[in-house]
Amino acid sequence: MGQRPFVLVPKKQSVVRDYWKEDAGHAFWMLQPHVPVSEQAVIEWYSLSDVLFTITLNEGKDTWSWVGKGDDLFSVKAVKNLMLNNRSFGVWFKYKWVAWVPLKCNILAWQAEMGRVPTATALSRRGVHLQSDVCSLCNVFPETVKHLFVDCGFTSGVLTAIGRWCGLNIQQVVDVRELLCCYKNATADKKCRKLICCLFIVMVWAIWGARNDKIFRHKEPKVVEVVASIKSLSFLWFRSRSRLKNVLWKNWVNSPLYFL
Ligand SMILES: [Zn+2]
Repeated sequence: MGQRPFVLVPKKQSVVRDYWKEDAGHAFWMLQPHVPVSEQAVIEWYSLSDVLFTITLNEGKDTWSWVGKGDDLFSVKAVKNLMLNNRSFGVWFKYKWVAWVPLKCNILAWQAEMGRVPTATALSRRGVHLQSDVCSLCNVFPETVKHLFVDCGFTSGVLTAIGRWCGLNIQQVVDVRELLCCYKNATADKKCRKLICCLFIVMVWAIWGARNDKIFRHKEPKVVEVVASIKSLSFLWFRSRSRLKNVLWKNWVNSPLYFL
């Protein structure tokens, strides 16, 4: 757990229980974020809230403890056993994590599919009350994971453009999982499907980036710019991380499948 959430509190000697209150089964934060709050601080705050919901704080002194299975004490062996015993990653891992998409993109798409991205409404449910829970891309609807990555009009514009770029006729998708599975309807060619799968992961990454640029850097989101960033980021990552180094930008920008 990082220390960034503590920049939010007025007294630097504070402990978590000074601000995290539990009342009749309801838990919430007794502080409002200063503006601007950094993107990383919000993510860490979200994670901290998730942990706090699973425990009850007492008045004792703070201590470190190992919450993994097995041994009562923390050890490398205990961590290894925990990792080996928890290899149930759900349906997501039917996808192969492709090396040319950076890990950060895979992780975000994986979290989005599970509904575990710190959107405004998700933060609100965890007792983090921001100034507004409205989607910063359309400024109309509450920002949920499904809205941000599937239902939002802004996202729909991006999805249509990327679908056209990949030669896909995108039908209405109902959730993030279906969005990330659009590649399955693409073509019988395995390499094409794999590439389209990766491009959609980059799309999720770029939409999240546009959302964060608006909230944390006050940059107005534009569909055409997000689409352009998906094309250029995927090109750079593909060229630098795959074995196919001879892909040409002038062809890629027209169709990412041109060489397959
Ligand atoms: Zn929206």
